[in-house]
Amino acid sequence: MSFKNDIREQFIRILGKGWVKDDQVTLYTYRCDGLTLYTAPPMGVLFPGTVHELVSVIKLLNQHKISFIARGAGTGLSGGAIPQDRSVIIEMARFKEIHEVDIINRTITVGPGVINLRITEHVNADGYHYAPDPSSQKACTIGGNVAENAGGPHTLKYGVTVNHVLGLEMVLADGELVTLGANHFGQPGPDLLGLVTGSEGTFGIITKITCRLMPNPEKAVTMLGIYKSVREACESVSNIIGQGIIPAAVEMLDKIIIYAVEKALKPGFPLDAEAVLIVELDGLSDGLDAEANVVEKLLKDSGAITVKRALDEAERAKIWRARKEAFGAIGQISPSYYVQDGVIPRSKLPEVLDEIAEIAKKSGLTVANVFHAGDGNLHPLILYDYGNQQEVEKAHAIGEEILSSCIRYGGSLSGEHGIGIEKAEWMSELYSGNSLDNMQNVRAFFNPENLLNPGKIFPQPGRCAESKSGTPPQQASSLDNTKMVASKSGIVV
Ligand SMILES: Cc1cc2nc3c(=O)[nH]c(=O)nc-3n(C[C@H](O)[C@H](O)[C@H](O)COP(=O)(O)OP(=O)(O)OC[C@H]3O[C@@H](n4cnc5c(N)ncnc54)[C@H](O)[C@@H]3O)c2cc1C
Repeated sequence: MSFKNDIREQFIRILGKGWVKDDQVTLYTYRCDGLTLYTAPPMGVLFPGTVHELVSVIKLLNQHKISFIARGAGTGLSGGAIPQDRSVIIEMARFKEIHEVDIINRTITVGPGVINLRITEHVNADGYHYAPDPSSQKACTIGGNVAENAGGPHTLKYGVTVNHVLGLEMVLADGELVTLGANHFGQPGPDLLGLVTGSEGTFGIITKITCRLMPNPEKAVTMLGIYKSVREACESVSNIIGQGIIPAAVEMLDKIIIYAVEKALKPGFPLDAEAVLIVELDGLSDGLDAEANVVEKLLKDSGAITVKRALDEAERAKIWRARKEAFGAIGQISPSYYVQDGVIPRSKLPEVLDEIAEIAKKSGLTVANVFHAGDGNLHPLILYDYGNQQEVEKAHAIGEEILSSCIRYGGSLSGEHGIGIEKAEWMSELYSGNSLDNMQNVRAFFNPENLLNPGKIFPQPGRCAESKSGTPPQQASSLDNTKMVASKSGIVV
């Protein structure tokens, strides 16, 4: 199904012919995001280039009661940009303007289509950077980051997206343009900006974002702890933080990942290690080497057989490239992978990693681990062959077992990738009915008819049994979100 002719004509009148697409290749391309286990083609894809065009398009969609979804770079891993109900995708890639850099106030205002890394590249010569650095930062957009409240290796010390967004402009589901926050912290009143950050594109389509800029640290020391067991590497994490030291990043890669990144990128990681821990300290030069000595001793006391230090910027960059491109390196050893994103108290890492190894052994599939160990944010990568239906089903089942163990150990469903369609049914395992109702009432305030990104975050009526058996959802039914239709004028700041 593509656009009806009369509607296509109206979109073309607003956007121009080249920016309205519903041919088979486009529909196929936009059938999924980074979560390739689930697919569903959209009705069509629109590419607005200005806020005015976006508002006009949304008003038209609203008038025809057609659901729609914003899309950034499509790197999301929980299916947030996968269309349900044949929604129309609104691709935000053309909103890539850097509107303003204000070095004195340490802010930058950008369009949502700006790639995360471009922000740092833009201000680096002035001695600043944008701190949240998802491993996908060469591809993902800042709009997608705000929608998912993205994290990254350095968010252990610096915080996630919500800690670095000061203000934004967005279009609500009926076409109303609102602004939230400002270009500084400390706006009085309920934190609507915080609510929108992490709302996975269900509250509005973001058109402008003001972010904080952080001064570059004077110095960084990057270490590589090498271990003969995953358990010892995990234990090191709590030992460092228990001493009151908060590194800029603590990341773990297991043996399978070491093999894959060595094959793809040759960073010089030892192939006979069971795990490596990347630990980075940063800050003022004075005292940093002394702190690094303390950390090195802690790593060795917890079982590291060697601790290497990056001797220069090139070595440091090689280590980080291997970490940040680790998911891609899996292509060297498996046709496909399914990445989970559970989070647990970091003190529980050893037990949960043992349990994941058991789950993998029992299933017969391989599960590799590369993750933000300092945050207790796991990323087990389940390796499977998408051409083998049995393996696809096993991959779903393993993912569910892993989530279940995260919840059992006092953790949560997502550290940074969001709930999307992937984990919507799991929300009722984590929250009682009342909490979910309340959250949906908040969403209904922004998005009363559920036209904006339907089928995401919350369990869908009648879907639970299907999803728990591992069958991917294809069609979402609309929720009754009309309980709380309040005047939106109250949120226009
Ligand atoms: C190899 C790899 C590594 C990754 N590493 C990390 C990591 O370290 N940390 C991390 O947090 N994530 C990581 N991710 C996940 C992903 O990159 C992030 O979730 C990212 O924030 C998604 O951005 P995007 O532009 O690709 O958004 P998309 O995938 O296009 O969309 C994601 C969600 O955002 C919404 N959205 C997009 N743009 C807008 C907008 N303008 N207004 C409103 N809603 C919008 C969409 O509707 C959707 O719900 C990784 C992904 C990959 C493939």
